[in-house]
Amino acid sequence: MAEFFVEINAQGNGDHIVHRSDCSILPSKDAVRYLGSIASCSSAVKKASEIFKQVNGCSLCSVACHSA
Ligand SMILES: [Zn+2]
Repeated sequence: MAEFFVEINAQGNGDHIVHRSDCSILPSKDAVRYLGSIASCSSAVKKASEIFKQVNGCSLCSVACHSA
């Protein structure tokens, strides 16, 4: 399990990026929303998609769930 967060502000392409709590580029706490302690990044992305329409895994910490 890992703790996951989603960025509140979208990227230029509209993606809200999902990060693990140990990601080196995780934004400050007031710029992210806590998703919970989740088994996999795919589950975390799914959960984030209930909050934001367009989500994507971080290319650094959640590369398995990142789509270009
Ligand atoms: Zn990340």
